[in-house]
Amino acid sequence: MICTYGDKTDVKWQKRHSLPQIIVITEDGKMNENAGKYVGLSIHECKKAIIEDLEKEELIVKKEVLKQSVGTCWRCHTPVEILSKHQWFMKTREMTDEVIKWTEKVRWVPAFAKKRMIDWALSLDWDWVISRQRIFATPIPVWYCIKCGETIVAKKEWLPVDPRFEKPKISSCPKCGSNKFIGETDVMDTWMDSSITCAVHAGWPNNPKTFKKLFPADLQPNGLDIIRTWDYYLMVKHLALFGIAPYKTVLINGMVRGSDGRMMHKSYGNYVEANAVIEKYGADALRQWAASGGSTGYDIPFRWSDVEYGKRFLTKLWNASRFILMNLSDNFKMENKIYKFETLDKWLLTKLEKLTEEVTEALENFQFNIAIEAIRNFTWHSFCDHYLEAVKPRLRASKGDSSEAVRYVLLYALYRIIQLLAPICPHITESIYQLIKPMLPMSNEEKSIHLTKWPTSNKSLISPEDEKIGELIIKVIALIRKLKAERKTSLKTQLKKAIVYVKEEDKEALNKHLDLISQVCFVNTIEIKPLKDESEIKVEIII
Ligand SMILES: [Zn+2]
Ligand SMILES: [Zn+2]
Repeated sequence: MICTYGDKTDVKWQKRHSLPQIIVITEDGKMNENAGKYVGLSIHECKKAIIEDLEKEELIVKKEVLKQSVGTCWRCHTPVEILSKHQWFMKTREMTDEVIKWTEKVRWVPAFAKKRMIDWALSLDWDWVISRQRIFATPIPVWYCIKCGETIVAKKEWLPVDPRFEKPKISSCPKCGSNKFIGETDVMDTWMDSSITCAVHAGWPNNPKTFKKLFPADLQPNGLDIIRTWDYYLMVKHLALFGIAPYKTVLINGMVRGSDGRMMHKSYGNYVEANAVIEKYGADALRQWAASGGSTGYDIPFRWSDVEYGKRFLTKLWNASRFILMNLSDNFKMENKIYKFETLDKWLLTKLEKLTEEVTEALENFQFNIAIEAIRNFTWHSFCDHYLEAVKPRLRASKGDSSEAVRYVLLYALYRIIQLLAPICPHITESIYQLIKPMLPMSNEEKSIHLTKWPTSNKSLISPEDEKIGELIIKVIALIRKLKAERKTSLKTQLKKAIVYVKEEDKEALNKHLDLISQVCFVNTIEIKPLKDESEIKVEIII
């Protein structure tokens, strides 16, 4: 007894060398008449019977356990046997040149995904098999003439139609005149449906207006594992139907792994359910972990500590918002007028406008990790730790240019922060937006933060000079506060004196801001002295 197919290599060789096909297995897994005396046995019984026969003939030399890879059913792990069957194909291989041409035109993020797509297209031995032997799927709208075998394909107007239950809308076979037909029982591969998503999302085939506007898709996001299926099938199907690539950019995501670095799996015990994380820390914290996890296209491990960090950031942002709102009167309105900004205001605004540029560029390039890190760094340190602390004395006054300017900057910066953060943390930013909305200028009063226009950097607010001086002031304040903490004195204890050593060129600029520093740090007098060594700045305090 001989059988043509053991594994996929046999399929290739049978075709390449035009070998005869000998099939010994039936569809229900029994041996057929080609199996001679073993006919009717199951595959398992047949294997046993063959070994028994070989033993009887004393033809077995040795028995040993072998390790080999065998394709099995993903569900019940039964080994897969290969049968030769008629199938429907789409002629995809003759499109390979076109596929490569359009793949080159598409932007792939990360870039290595493009090579995967091209390598895949070039490696294909078969056209795309679009039929499946299943019950539930999209029917293949085809009938066969029982008498002459002619294939009758449904006309467009007959669709949708299920040939397993409905007859073709013709009275007789165009070839032999017979009126007996049998419907195709095969159904379509599921990718036949998902390979038209770009067109369908754009409104095809019923809405030509939106289709014209929305096709091809700006973005096709999917996992690394389905470049060879979804991205490839989308490409061939849309090229065949419309002659152009279905997407302009493909964004490839990596997989989420367990905290031990392995794929998440029940049997490893390393999986975490998204809902459990959301229940504990909220969706905005989980989303920060996903955004900060690393470059797109690479797998990221799940880390509770990252989610906890995200949650702490949200608390910081929420507290800062409450502090700002507490310091704004109910009828405060951000106006488009000229405010008299002080150095630290200009320092913060410069950093804020630069942040806007950085985050916009990062998001345009799908560098979500760079965007979230920049926003968190600015908000946590520049805004909360330094600016909010340094402007507290100015907030004690409720009137005057300085008090007006600082309130404007606080609200302006908070609004900008939540706008930049909105794509990553949609919930907390919306909550804060609803609180500050009445204070924003009329033009910004959108119903939701997610409807506001993406901010652009106001370049007229960028001042490198003020940024440099502001940095110096912030450093001096931070150093005095650090020394106070080291000496275990309360931050609000009034100091007799602080001596600040700075470079000669910084002396004049710093001199202008001594009042501010002594107010923020509770110091009676500040003395400025020239630095004796190469370091940038030094501080001494006298309690
Ligand atoms: Zn199975
Ligand atoms: Zn016929």
